[in-house]
Amino acid sequence: MINLYGQEIKKLEELLISRGQKKFRATQLFSWIYEKKVTDFDEMSDVSKTFREELKRDFCLVQPKIFKKQVSNDGTIKLLLELEDGSKVETALMPYNYGNAICVSSQVGCNMACAFCASGLLKKKRNLEVHEMVGQILVMNKLLEERNERVTHIVVMGTGEPFDNYDNVLDFVRIANHPKGFAIGARHITISTCGIVPGILRYAKEGLQTNLAISLHAPNDEIRNKIMPISKGYPLDKLMEAVRFYEREAGRRVTFEYIMLKNVNDSIEHAKELVKLIKGTLAYVNLIPYNPVDENSFERSPDKAVHDFMSYLMKHGVNTTVRKEFGNDIDAACGQLRAKEHYEEERRKN
Ligand code: SF4
Repeated sequence: MINLYGQEIKKLEELLISRGQKKFRATQLFSWIYEKKVTDFDEMSDVSKTFREELKRDFCLVQPKIFKKQVSNDGTIKLLLELEDGSKVETALMPYNYGNAICVSSQVGCNMACAFCASGLLKKKRNLEVHEMVGQILVMNKLLEERNERVTHIVVMGTGEPFDNYDNVLDFVRIANHPKGFAIGARHITISTCGIVPGILRYAKEGLQTNLAISLHAPNDEIRNKIMPISKGYPLDKLMEAVRFYEREAGRRVTFEYIMLKNVNDSIEHAKELVKLIKGTLAYVNLIPYNPVDENSFERSPDKAVHDFMSYLMKHGVNTTVRKEFGNDIDAACGQLRAKEHYEEERRKN
């Protein structure tokens, strides 16, 4: 069975044409499943009975199931979703004053092994299929219907490295952005990479108006090698070259994500190095207060250190923001909910 939610529109057109259908059927189906939110082929009233029968025979519209749900006092929703093979992935919804941003996972587990990350505690089991990323929005939109709202912004920043699942992530982004899909503006969609250089170079040439964020988290290779093993394959000089290429080719600037870790990367010396490193790019920096997890010893930088770091960057011409924090009363760190559930499952088994 082909899950219709996994079909990017161009690919769906080709698939339908190969089955003797007209190209416009793809847009028609998109409109039924995304605009009218129909989940039963029999409700597609302007589709011929014969084609409906064919759809019922060969296609399905399966969505992930909610396994666990946490809702924070600030309106953050964190879901642990169960997929058809029993795998579990996290997805989170952050209510900003400008809209609802969903943080989408792109893999089951992650192999990048960033030392501070709860998602990376569980190794990659597999890539997510396109329909499994689309499903994260569908499920969240269903919950938001109660508030008469919908997902308006996407960050592919949940569990997994998006450029390690490049083709599926890009198909997902195209469905999210398509006017008959979720119709989310390109500028409201961000892909975040830990620094996979070939992925950045390829993304630069896609001709998309979507955003790119890079998890930098260190101002030099020495620190980066310690907390982000990917850095050994793609050191900072190569990464910065790729950033400059992206800026030229895509005509877009990147955001550097920088987690503030106490006594690791949060001194004024580090801020100085960072200014030097990103000089000449149009990038801006998003400082992220750290959510400690039990499984490592990293600590959160004091507010003063974050403030001083930010002031230094701003004084030296780097646009800087501090990420708003969400869901402090629930499992706020990315991957924490899934990791906890996994360990509980293991305990139950033993
Ligand atoms: S921070 Fe991202 S890339 Fe690094 S281990 Fe966690 S999920 Fe993977």
